Amino acid sequence: MTSARARGVLCIDERALTNAQRAWARARSMVSDEAERQMRALLGELIEGQIRQMSVLVEMARQGDKKALLGWLKAYTGKRSTLVDRMQDVFRQGLRESAEAVRLTVMQEIGKDISDEALSRLISKYCTQSANNYARKTLEQITGLLEKYLQKGESGEQIAARLRARLERWRTERLGQVANDAAVGISGKITRAMADALGYDVIWVNAGGEVCPFCQELDGKTVDSNGDFRIEKGKIRTKKHPPLHNGCRCQLVLRKRGNQK
Ligand SMILES: [Zn+2]
Ligand SMILES: [Zn+2]
Repeated sequence: MTSARARGVLCIDERALTNAQRAWARARSMVSDEAERQMRALLGELIEGQIRQMSVLVEMARQGDKKALLGWLKAYTGKRSTLVDRMQDVFRQGLRESAEAVRLTVMQEIGKDISDEALSRLISKYCTQSANNYARKTLEQITGLLEKYLQKGESGEQIAARLRARLERWRTERLGQVANDAAVGISGKITRAMADALGYDVIWVNAGGEVCPFCQELDGKTVDSNGDFRIEKGKIRTKKHPPLHNGCRCQLVLRKRGNQK
């Protein structure tokens, strides 16, 4: 039962998803799989380049020159940096087709569409945000590592080794995380924005991969255009759309506003 009180703020718990809704989630999941492949291909070379560029930090760490290191890093990851520019291009290139494909699935699902301009704006905003997040996390990762090991009193040599190991991990782990996050994120973003614009609620659906207890909890929950999906993981976290975490393969489907089913 959907009460007016629950609209907009709380998740409405209705686990009875129809077969058709499950199928739309799977269709969107396949689009995300393709987006992920594209992102992985584009990110491979880019991250290699970043690792090469950032290896100058290893030398600065070895010499114990924290100030120079931080200065370099801040310039490298700044808002107008080449890093942000390049990442933005990669997100645009890797996600444009998928965003179109997601739009098509929503169109087929509800028989309504948004304008090309609206879609372009959504993609552009998503890619800019993602590029800035990437740069910010890069800065946070390295400064976090530096602070931690300086506090422990490690030598420049030791910190340099840790820094090198971290950069090595980007080649595998981080590349995969960024690709997955972007692939599932663009799908959620477009689906959600279209639902909001066209007068639909959205339902969170587990659509593949390993489903964690938190995603399982959200499966079948509905929110309207003002609503957030809420998860209690220590503190309360809210999400407008998947992914909830690294490796999350959830998707959104649509439900006509005010409709009980
Ligand atoms: Zn999960
Ligand atoms: Zn999930």
